[in-house]
Amino acid sequence: MNKKVLVKIVEKLNDDKKEILKTIDLEERNDIAIVESENVTGDIVDTANTVYELQVTNRLSEKEQERLNEIVNALKRIEENVYGRCVDCGNEIEEKRLLAIPEAKKCIVCKSAEEKRKF
Ligand SMILES: [Zn+2]
Repeated sequence: MNKKVLVKIVEKLNDDKKEILKTIDLEERNDIAIVESENVTGDIVDTANTVYELQVTNRLSEKEQERLNEIVNALKRIEENVYGRCVDCGNEIEEKRLLAIPEAKKCIVCKSAEEKRKF
């Protein structure tokens, strides 16, 4: 995949992530910040992240939580260099599709097949 496209996608994913986290009001976000700073000591950064995620997801609707998970997973796939491939057939997902839905993990063919199964 074109690096410029990938950079754009990472930006979009991070923006979307921020958008979702913005739905948590300021007061609650302060609580989360406190929990975070109390836990970020020495080598327990991972624990802090877990606590943070837990605190955040408790305050999101199921739909927002699901979307957040998809976004986090997409960012993880980018890190692992497996981003942009369909998890079903292994073909590359169209760039246009990824730009529209950066967290997409299936190509359009597999996605529509999945949707047909659902309905
Ligand atoms: Zn596919």
